[in-house]
Amino acid sequence: MGVFNLEKLNQELSGAKSVAITGHIRPDGDCIGSCTALYQYLMECRDELGIVKVDIYLETFGQEYNIISATDIIRHTFDNDYAYDVLITLDCSSIDRLGPSIRYFNSAKRTVCIDHHITNDNFADVNHVVANASSTCEVIYELMDDNRITKEIARSLYLGIVHDTGVFRHTSTSGRTMEIAASLIRKGIDFTRIIDETFTQKTYAQMQIMGRALLESILLLDGRIVASSVSLDTMNFYQVTHSDLDGIVDQLRMTKATEVAIFIYETEIGDYKVSLRSNGVVNVSKIAHFFGGGGHVQAAGFNMQASPSDIIASIIPHIEEQLNS
Ligand code: AMP
Ligand code: MN
Ligand code: MN
Repeated sequence: MGVFNLEKLNQELSGAKSVAITGHIRPDGDCIGSCTALYQYLMECRDELGIVKVDIYLETFGQEYNIISATDIIRHTFDNDYAYDVLITLDCSSIDRLGPSIRYFNSAKRTVCIDHHITNDNFADVNHVVANASSTCEVIYELMDDNRITKEIARSLYLGIVHDTGVFRHTSTSGRTMEIAASLIRKGIDFTRIIDETFTQKTYAQMQIMGRALLESILLLDGRIVASSVSLDTMNFYQVTHSDLDGIVDQLRMTKATEVAIFIYETEIGDYKVSLRSNGVVNVSKIAHFFGGGGHVQAAGFNMQASPSDIIASIIPHIEEQLNS
């Protein structure tokens, strides 16, 4: 296939009049950042590329992300049957993570997948997966001509990098990540606002449910695992949705002497989303992959239909095995 670069992306887009951009279900900062960055970049270059129509499709997300440009044009309904010339999926590791966007994936003439998940299974016609990149935003920055990155595109890219690196703390942060962040900051972006308003700040209800999850957390395996769960009833009590639970698992991971944090929340009655975080020794993407999910070495997830205690009981042997090997 050769190297994937700006020319290759242009080649994939050549002759395309309509482009759909999408990402994974329950979109996060990297997903929203990469979709809006690529959208704005294609808008900058639309005349020379001959593109007439670019649409973004994503499930709904927290309103804090609306400080990013182009979030207002994102479509959250998936009910037209338009067949796009090219569909580009960003930050999505497998076809089942596309959610309702699958219909545009299936009807598109060509599909391109740009991602950074180690578990990505190359599900599109053309796949550009850089597993050691901090974020999909970092991957697409490398595909862009820096001179054409506007301040608004820079804000989108910065959002994704900041979220996926936990503000430059996770091991996925590289020297290159910092160089890219530096060039984005040099565009004059309001980077502290992006970090504060989309990452650090929480609503009172979000604070309350995080407090509750921490209070009810338990230590397992001699304190090497910390685990907690939140039921739909509890979420309804605090009037929060799943996107209000972001950051809880990362807070759990900060518990001293733990190797793995497990956070489970109910998505539908009896259906659970499991988030795993590692402090470095355990490869949680391997465990998530075993249970049909995926992710990265230190952050991964999967879905399961079992009670939280049964889910935890089935994960423990996998962690134990890695700790003892
Ligand atoms: P989360 O715990 O949802 O913040 O996800 C951590 C990482 O694991 C992200 O990179 C996700 O894309 C990935 N991930 C989470 N859940 C799943 C899943 N069910 N299938 C595949 N990857 C997942
Ligand atoms: Mn993501
Ligand atoms: Mn990502």
